[in-house]
Parts: sequence; structure tokens; C-alpha cells
Amino acid sequence: MMQHTFGNFLFSLYTDSSFNMITDEHSLFTIQSKDEIYGKVEEKVHWALTHGIIMGVKPSSLSSSTSPSSVIATHAPFALNPYRFPSLSFNKSMKLATIFNTLMDKVSRDNEWLQRTLQNTGVSDEFTGKLLTIHKTINSTPYQHRKQQISLAINRSDYMLHSQANDSRTLLQVEINTIASSFGAISTQISEMYRIFDPSNARIPVNEANKNISTAMVQAHLQYNSLYDVTDSQIVMIVQPNERNFADQRQLQFYITQHYHNVKLVRATLSDIINNSRYDDTTNTLTYNGIIVSLFYFRSGYTPDDYPSDAEWESRLLIEKCNAIKCPNIGYHLAGCKKVQQTLANAGEVERFVSNIDDVALLRDVFAGLYNLDRKESDTCDISNECKLDEFIQHVLTCPDGYVMKPQREGGGNNLYNEDLVAALTTYSAEDLAGYIIMEKIQPTLQKCILIRDGAYVVTDSICELGIYGIYLGSGTENSYSDANSNSYGGYLLRVKPYNFNEGGVAAGYAVLSSPELV
Ligand code: ADP
Ligand code: MG
Repeated sequence: MMQHTFGNFLFSLYTDSSFNMITDEHSLFTIQSKDEIYGKVEEKVHWALTHGIIMGVKPSSLSSSTSPSSVIATHAPFALNPYRFPSLSFNKSMKLATIFNTLMDKVSRDNEWLQRTLQNTGVSDEFTGKLLTIHKTINSTPYQHRKQQISLAINRSDYMLHSQANDSRTLLQVEINTIASSFGAISTQISEMYRIFDPSNARIPVNEANKNISTAMVQAHLQYNSLYDVTDSQIVMIVQPNERNFADQRQLQFYITQHYHNVKLVRATLSDIINNSRYDDTTNTLTYNGIIVSLFYFRSGYTPDDYPSDAEWESRLLIEKCNAIKCPNIGYHLAGCKKVQQTLANAGEVERFVSNIDDVALLRDVFAGLYNLDRKESDTCDISNECKLDEFIQHVLTCPDGYVMKPQREGGGNNLYNEDLVAALTTYSAEDLAGYIIMEKIQPTLQKCILIRDGAYVVTDSICELGIYGIYLGSGTENSYSDANSNSYGGYLLRVKPYNFNEGGVAAGYAVLSSPELV
């Protein structure tokens, strides 16, 4: 066996001697020779390159004289074949989409609950603290009474399959993303690719994430126009400078351009907004480059790196202030915090927002163990009421590989595992720990997969993470919500990664894209 790099990591790549026959007893593919694999890899890489399954190359691969990573691309990493996924779990996750949408909308509108829940986290974590300050500002005089009450949510609830002896749970939620839920467009193409190469395979679920996300944006835009009686407004997609995942974003834009000729969508960074916008205090409208903005769709703004100076924070506040619909607004952004996820799992909390007991049961069924690390919040953790936080920490220290420690961050690469988790638990101050939560580690089953990145492949035991898009165009008032104008399942994303990788992002270099094949 030889060691090869794959992304930033070392992989075991089977060499000729051990790799003439890759068979997996359950596998739908049996590949006989290395040449044959190369042939299949090359063919699909070419399909990917010609159908928008692409990402900008990493800046480290570019010489300083070349163009930025937003114009030089390679194929996005993907698996050669779809991943066998139990249909019961898939159907359950689809059913949960609208329930999570309603839950998130209600949470996003409960200003007092959000402020209270995140209060100590915001003290410990400066980024969350700044988001909370914007939230407080927007919900106080003079802004509160003119706040836009319509909001568009494009959520993505991520799940892993779970399999452990004496444990009946089979599907557990990793997290729910309420801001910049990405890969809807490219994952649509991935499913299409598998279907085209294997037309008789009816077990790959239809995936219309690109269409559904794009159409939801248009719906929000039209709703704005009709509410304010305007015709010439525009959607603004807030992006990061030199975004590598531009193709996923552009395909949403191009879908809109192709199907809705009169709907204009432009891309702008947070700093573009502050430099080229005008806020009209009388009408509460924001014009960007002279055109009123109907909808701000965020594909940036979720990490501290997106706010290198005060100007970006000013920009975020301006966007929240104006009457454009936001996807997401600040309440929704906060509702996606890991601290909120952990709090909702506490006794009585999800029930505060969801009255239907069947829905509550479905939700609770996919909650993994989620534990508080904030000493001020309570002296107890939730495994049992008698378990003091210190005792819980001692317990985690005895079996750290059963847990994941998470800060309030998005985008992959931020969680703590094993020795890092131990170091954090034993050295961080009480205030620092309040910025984190602890989660039970999900124990998924493995499948042998061929993963392709930068034209090279590896064969490896792999695990998957299913993302389910939920789309919700809702209105209401502070602390109460109205029935949604639309509430729907929006499509899926399936990511696959080597079984021994803890982290999971595609853009971050850990996982590759795939699709479920229902079994
Ligand atoms: P982020 O907001 O950075 O995406 P996540 O909570 O999704 O944070 O965690 C990142 C990755 O870490 C996930 O994609 C998943 O692969 C892995 N992970 C997170 N939580 C767990 C868990 N409880 N059990 C196993 N793996 C997890
Ligand atoms: Mg995630």
C-alpha cells in the first residue's frame, strides 16, 4: 500500500498488487482493473467539468500572477457511484423538512428567547456577541416597528446514519444550517450525472434543489414587489470575495435568468454594499447601485472572516435595517447556532415551539445527545438531572472519542475531537467553555467508495452525511408567526468522506459529493 495525498490528508491508496479486483459484497459496482477505474473516473470527471460540477481551485495552487480562484476551476470532488442509503431514513428526513422549517421560523421570531439562550455564549464568543447586538438593535426603537416581517429560509438539516448495538436510533441530526446552505445546485447535477450513467437505476431520488431554491428566491422577490408596489427591484446575493464555490451560486442565478427573464440578480460582497448603497430613511428601502433591493440572499456573512473590518458589520446592520427580505434575517441566523440546537434538545424547549406531539416525537427522535457546557446556565447537564457539569466533564474525559465539542462556527474545520477536546475541557476557562456545546458522536456504518478529488481517486471505507433542504417563506410578527406562504422540502445533498475523517465540509477539503441510492 502507498500513501497518497487527497486534499490535505494522507490516504491509503491501493497499488496494483492489491487493487486488481475491488469488490464489495453489497456493492452495485464491481470494477476489474485499474485501467477500467481510470476510464470511469475520467469519463465522470469530464461530465462534471462540462456540466457545472466545478469549484475554483485553491488559492495555494495559483501563482500570484494568475487570476483569482473565482475564475479558474476544476471539478468539485465527488464519489464515483451513489451511496446506498436506507429509504426509511431518507423518507423520514424528507418528512422532517417542513417540521424543522416551522420550528426554525418560530425560534427566529422569538427575540426574547434567542437573546436569553445565547446571552452567555455571546459573552464568550465575540462573533455571536456581535450578531446578538445587531439582533437587539433591530428589535428596538426606532427600527422594530418597521422591521421586515417576511423572511425567506433556505435551511439544510444535516443527518448521519447511526448504528450501534442496543440502540434503536438510525438517523441523527448533525446540525441545521440557516445561513448560506450551499451545494443545492451542484448536488442537483450530481444526481443527474448518476442517472445519466445508469439510466435503469430508479433508486436515485429526484433532486430539484437548484430549481426549488431559485424559485423560492423569485417568490420572495415577487412578494416584495407586490407589497411595496415596485417593479424594478433586484435580488442581491451576498458573496465572499473570490468565492471558490461560485458555480453552485451562479447556477441559481442562471436558473433565474433563464426561467424568469424579468428578475434581476446581482452578486455583491458585504464591502460592496457599504460602498455602493443608499438607505432611504423615509421609505426604509435600500438601493444598491441605484436599484432597490427586494431580497438579500446570504452566501457569506456566516464566519468572522467575512467581517474583516467594521465596514462589513456596518453593512450587515444596514441590510437588517432596510425593508428588503433577508435570507436569512438575523433572527434566523441566530436560530442556526449550535447553542440553540443544544438548548432545543433540553426538556420542554422544543415543545415551547411545536405543539403537535407527533411532530415533537419525530424531531426528538433525530436529536443526538446534546450537552451544555455553560456553568452559569445551570449546574447540571442533561444526561440525567443529578449529573453535575463537572461530573459530566469527567465522564467525557474518560471516553473523548464518544463526543464532539463544537463552537458557534459554520463552514467546517472548527470542531474539537479526541485530544483537542480533552485539552479544551481541561484548560479552558468557564467563560470560554460557555461558547461551546458537546455532542454525542454519531457512529455511522461504513461503505467502500471510490472518492475523486482533483482527478485522482482513492478507494476507502466511507461514511455519509445527508443534507435535506427546507424552504420556508414566512411572515408574522415579533414573537408570533403566521402560517407560511410556502413550506416545503427542497431537495438533498449527500456528502461522503473517509470513515476516519472527523470533519466533513466539501469546500473545506474533507468530504466529496454523492447522492443516495435508496435501498
Ligand atoms: P459546521 O457548521 O462547521 O458544518 P458541523 O456541526 O456540521 O459544523 O460539523 C462539521 C462536521 O463534523 C460534520 O459535517 C460531520 O462530518 C462532523 N460531525 C459533526 N457533529 C458530529 C457528530 N455528533 N458525530 C459525528 N460527526 C460529527
Ligand atoms: Mg455542517
